[in-house]
Amino acid sequence: MKRKIISAGPTSINEKVLERMVSVSTNPDLDPEYLNFHREVERKYGKLLNTDATSFIVLGEAMIILEGSICSLMDKGDRVLVLSNGVFGAGFADYVDFFGGSAVLYERDHRHGFNIEELREFLEKDHDFQLATMVHCETPTGVTNDIKAIAAELNKYGILSIVDSVSAVGGEYIDFDDFGVDLILGGSQKAISAPTGLSMVTISDRAKEKIKNRKTKVPSYYMNFENYYNYSDPTFAFPYTMNEHLTYALDQALNLVLEKDFVALHKRYADITRKTVVDCGFELYAKDHHSNTLTAVVLPEDVKAQDLLEKMREKNIEISKGAGPMAEKLFRIGHMGNNISYENFDLLFQMLDQSFADLGHPLDKSLRQTFNKYYQEIK
Ligand SMILES: *Cc1c(COP(=O)(O)O)cnc(C)c1O
Repeated sequence: MKRKIISAGPTSINEKVLERMVSVSTNPDLDPEYLNFHREVERKYGKLLNTDATSFIVLGEAMIILEGSICSLMDKGDRVLVLSNGVFGAGFADYVDFFGGSAVLYERDHRHGFNIEELREFLEKDHDFQLATMVHCETPTGVTNDIKAIAAELNKYGILSIVDSVSAVGGEYIDFDDFGVDLILGGSQKAISAPTGLSMVTISDRAKEKIKNRKTKVPSYYMNFENYYNYSDPTFAFPYTMNEHLTYALDQALNLVLEKDFVALHKRYADITRKTVVDCGFELYAKDHHSNTLTAVVLPEDVKAQDLLEKMREKNIEISKGAGPMAEKLFRIGHMGNNISYENFDLLFQMLDQSFADLGHPLDKSLRQTFNKYYQEIK
């Protein structure tokens, strides 16, 4: 029996995506049709962000473009505002440091989305920044920040914005142009539910200008974003050999995403999941700005996340524990991409009922029954 993956990413992958991945045989360096196809996939990806702005695919796990965004966009000596209300947020400060910038960490409570008033007041006093970084959905906590409102504040001072949207793209509504952000970074293995290994960058004209007008050279070849979109010779398409199998898989995964109102589907399962766990006596880790793609739930004092995950794994279901300091105190459910189906969630909650009982902590109210009630009620 195959294990059900209902974790906060990487997600399960649809059979159709896996089939498409191995159904192709070509040489991505030589085949001119492949080049056209690749560009089409990049444009198709842009539909998830409702934009015609340049999007490009980088071969590598999403960390490559988080690092690459700083490496490409930031000049030596730039001051960068690192907005952080979670583990991923603070991580940008390391990249700023590696590449010779000066990071100012704006660290806020991990259980809340950024307060816009507070950010506005901060910026009134200090706005001498060339760039700001932020995370759209903090995967460890299930907080989705209001990046449109944040970008509006940054734009008052001409501060360019880099947004890690790896666990949000596909599951949260994004309008790249209307949001006024400069880079949105996405990954293949979260809500899009393609195999891990591709990452996607969407870039504004303003950000292209910043790269073009750098005082110092981009200190990398592989991570230099300009190599992906600024090709004068149209036959020199890629800075290195692309992985055609992963690109075909991504194309099929995007077809499945675009087939329905994917954001509405995520909203619905997020809503049902939160109501179910709260009704059964659990506490949500996030206090506001709840994510559409995952829910982090606080565990009772006497249950460790590792033990719950093991009990669930025995029942053939993979869920996530917390991350960082909250690793053992939370469990996380990924209502994300291909994980989402009635069958999966009915089984998930049934097995959580059993697992808590196995761990000597039987629940007063059944998660499975509560899920089914809300499944009927919330459309
Ligand atoms: C998954 C994810 C990444 C990529 O990190 P990995 O741990 O390598 O999967 C980056 N940012 C966010 C917000 C993510 O959820």
